[in-house]
Amino acid sequence: MKVLIAEDDPTSRRILEAMLAKWGYCVITARDGDEALKALAEEDAPHIAILDRLMPGIDGANVCRKIRNMEAGTGEYTYLILLTVKGSKENIVSGMEAGADDYITKPYDEQELRVRLSAGRRIIDLHKELTTAKNHLLEQSRTDPLTGILNRRAVMSELLVEMARSQGENNQLSVALLDIDHFKSVNDTHGHAAGDAVIRECVLQIGSALRCDRFGRIGGEEFLIVLPSAAEDNLPVICGRILSMINESATMFNGSAIRVTASIGAATWDGAESLDILLARADKALYMAKKSGRNCVKISGPMEFAVMADC
Ligand SMILES: [Mg+2]
Repeated sequence: MKVLIAEDDPTSRRILEAMLAKWGYCVITARDGDEALKALAEEDAPHIAILDRLMPGIDGANVCRKIRNMEAGTGEYTYLILLTVKGSKENIVSGMEAGADDYITKPYDEQELRVRLSAGRRIIDLHKELTTAKNHLLEQSRTDPLTGILNRRAVMSELLVEMARSQGENNQLSVALLDIDHFKSVNDTHGHAAGDAVIRECVLQIGSALRCDRFGRIGGEEFLIVLPSAAEDNLPVICGRILSMINESATMFNGSAIRVTASIGAATWDGAESLDILLARADKALYMAKKSGRNCVKISGPMEFAVMADC
């Protein structure tokens, strides 16, 4: 494990460095607070730092304060040990208040430093385990288990993010609702396992038509596709390409090729309406696509009644 030593006195720095290297740590050194901050801000920075309380420029306590500010909200954590002069209780208190996890008084005892470093190492290891578990849970809570793409909640929040971004950057934003045609008959004829395979195949086709992953499964055989930077004029081509890919593909199941088509209702955000209204417009367009024979795209708005793909 990497440890940073920030100490302005060259002799103390070298002694510390030799000691830590002997205990198996990979040591990085800094001569003052500025160098320490730079080393801790780097990618793959040490997770433990021993900081001298008194250094020229930014002192140890201020390094702690800046590191804690830098870490806020990132999920990162650095275990910070302050080196203080014996008896300076005020320094210890202000140092710990600034964000230090522990302190060691100079002149320090070698064994005490060793076990305090081990304690820091345990905290960092635990923190890593927690972060991994948290990320895994977060990933699970965003993923549709059948297809591995975003689930309903995650794709909705993706859409909200894109709405905010579109407003900030003054870009167009569109959405498409895709529903696999006559899906019930796939399940009835070939069974649910075949239906699942068809859904996975459609997801593959949507993914390769879009070359991005901003889409999610919002119902049994229904998908929401978020199209950042897509204006209304682009929708027939983009959505047409998705339908063609699905048309031309087949799901192989128990030796038979199952072919399906899909319908799409799309809408371009007007920059003011709510997510619910935008989706209701796309849903209405999807209803029109189904009503006019399926396997086609309908666009909400002025082009609502235009047929955009092979019907
Ligand atoms: Mg010093």
